[in-house]
Amino acid sequence: MKRTGRSSEARRSATVASPAGPQRTCVACRAVRPKRDLVRIVRSPSGELSVDLRGKVAGRGAYCDPDPACLERGLRDGALARALEVTIDADTAGRLGQQMAEAAKIRRTERTT
Ligand SMILES: [Zn+2]
Repeated sequence: MKRTGRSSEARRSATVASPAGPQRTCVACRAVRPKRDLVRIVRSPSGELSVDLRGKVAGRGAYCDPDPACLERGLRDGALARALEVTIDADTAGRLGQQMAEAAKIRRTERTT
């Protein structure tokens, strides 16, 4: 039996020097943006997932656009689960969706200065 996959697509952790500061890739749509324009989704050591607006929560993190639609996409195609190395059940997905909606709102108000 032959298994496909496991492409040798090396994870590009190249840190591109940019005047805008560090760049991160959205796990869902793969868009590269300044880190501050993305939100971090973190898996705590206990396995709890949450949206981490400040980027300070300890644990394994993945970056996503502050956009519920983008999160949805990452949840649906499994990109987020892969990035965080967890299985995401429907409850968790729903909770993350709510947190992301909140985060999107906060980000929008923060940016209109
Ligand atoms: Zn995105």
